[in-house]
Amino acid sequence: MARASGLAMRMVLFGPSGAGKGTQAQMLKDQLGVVHIASGDLFRNHLRLGTPLGRQISEYVNQGLLVPDEVTIDIVLDKVMPLMSAAGFILDGFPRNTHQAEVLEAKLVGEARGLDKVVAIDVAEDVLVGRLGSRYTCRQCQAPHAVAPGEKAPVCSQCGGVLYQRPDDAPAAVQRRFQVYQQETLPVLEFYRKRGLLAEVSGVGTVEEVYGRVTAALGLGPAGRPSAKPSPKPR
Ligand code: ADP
Ligand code: ZN
Repeated sequence: MARASGLAMRMVLFGPSGAGKGTQAQMLKDQLGVVHIASGDLFRNHLRLGTPLGRQISEYVNQGLLVPDEVTIDIVLDKVMPLMSAAGFILDGFPRNTHQAEVLEAKLVGEARGLDKVVAIDVAEDVLVGRLGSRYTCRQCQAPHAVAPGEKAPVCSQCGGVLYQRPDDAPAAVQRRFQVYQQETLPVLEFYRKRGLLAEVSGVGTVEEVYGRVTAALGLGPAGRPSAKPSPKPR
């Protein structure tokens, strides 16, 4: 396993919207010191800053459609490729179709080392719909928070930033994102399964329970140390 030999971790966190990728990625990042690259966060930063790229992609993002590959692949690889000799990375939200997966693979193989692991977080669709309806996102650091219906959104627990509801978390856009996920993104699971890189974990339970499964899938102990066998109990 990569960590045991002191090498950086290169991983993809995979799963539908609302599976908890952002939350788990944040915890892994804090524990392992790897860089978290979330394609959706990169895009939302462009939207917030009103860049030319932001204007080009806003329709896609707000409606829950995939941003075209010509744009997406460059934006993400520009962040990933400088990290080749660094602490490692967690990709979240990318790849979202098999073409993106193929391009990423070719790029990493060109750098002599591919991904270590793809961890897919599995959650049933009805649970996802409920989660997205109560999801608030930090404007500043993009950390996701759950806010009960009727409750006032607090400030971000990570950075004190203001929380807002993403336009693509509205019901119509959520439906579309699930369709896109089924049609375009699910084949990526097969892509990684065939390569022996895939670990699937249930995303149902507390954040800590899911984190225990994710770290076990990565061969890490609960405190981020390499462990020979999966950790016996979640933190
Ligand atoms: P989620 O909360 O559903 O995981 P993200 O924050 O990852 O959503 O992505 C939000 C939106 O950004 C997507 O619906 C899509 O429009 C765009 N996007 C993000 N990643 C990609 C990608 N790899 N390819 C194409 N579009 C993407
Ligand atoms: Zn924040």
